[in-house]
Amino acid sequence: MKKILNKKSKIFTSVIVILIIVAIILFVYIPYTNAIEITQLKNNGHSQMMGYIIQTKNNKTIVIDGGTHEDSENLINHIKSTTNKVDAWFITHPHNDHASVVIDVINNTDIPIDNIYVTLNDLEWYEENEPERAHQTKDFFDALENDRVKDNVHEVSLHQNIQIDNVNCEILGVKNPEITGNKCTNNSSMVIRMEVNNKAILFLGDTAEESQEKLLENNPEEKIKADIVQMAHHGQNGVNEDFYKIVNPKICMWPTPDWLWINDAGGGEDSGPWLTKTTRKWIENLNVKQNIVEKDGDITIKVW
Ligand SMILES: [Zn+2]
Repeated sequence: MKKILNKKSKIFTSVIVILIIVAIILFVYIPYTNAIEITQLKNNGHSQMMGYIIQTKNNKTIVIDGGTHEDSENLINHIKSTTNKVDAWFITHPHNDHASVVIDVINNTDIPIDNIYVTLNDLEWYEENEPERAHQTKDFFDALENDRVKDNVHEVSLHQNIQIDNVNCEILGVKNPEITGNKCTNNSSMVIRMEVNNKAILFLGDTAEESQEKLLENNPEEKIKADIVQMAHHGQNGVNEDFYKIVNPKICMWPTPDWLWINDAGGGEDSGPWLTKTTRKWIENLNVKQNIVEKDGDITIKVW
């Protein structure tokens, strides 16, 4: 009788051990081997900027924006030290703190760029609606005409899915020509939802409150919800608190330099007109686990 019981308990223990091994393989080992690395790039000049470089499972390189001309060398070094080519480069909008690096890479290097994804109105739209910064858009348009890349430029469409290795990119927001006014180019930002291992990463570019409304109209809340979010418009004067409540992120990536982080216009903390500290309070209230801030240098996280 005792022997039978012993045998039964041995079988039971073996089954438990096998189940634990299977669970580790399914929930830890497989997701870990399917990981991606996201690096948020630091600002190399004084200006705010935004740049991300992503390595996929099988070493495809994705870039989102890039920064100002002063940031070109840093990003070019990152590209050269990895695959020395870019498989997909997304430009959220053509402002110089986002699109200058890709202009430099196109015009001044021989780094291959397989695909450039944009959402652009006609040049006349920028000239009419934001004349003071239209020359920045013109520089970007000129670079896209370069023979080296002109056949690789794609205008994205709403809800388009772009699969790059193990990363699915869904376009949640595109140019909004009907939204004019002083933040029109910010409001034309591409919004990208990346998904890997059922984890979502939301890139908002410089989305402001007007285009936030369109994002909510065009997408169900479960698509807005994300584990990781790039804080809109450098962490201030972008989307509002209700929007971040829907996102409910665990990790926030802030494309925010030191002076903007503490609202310092040159006269010390709180001497500026910026609203970053208000956004920081919202995020504190959401119990976010990790803040990754541009001011702290190039920071890489593994997502799996
Ligand atoms: Zn910006």
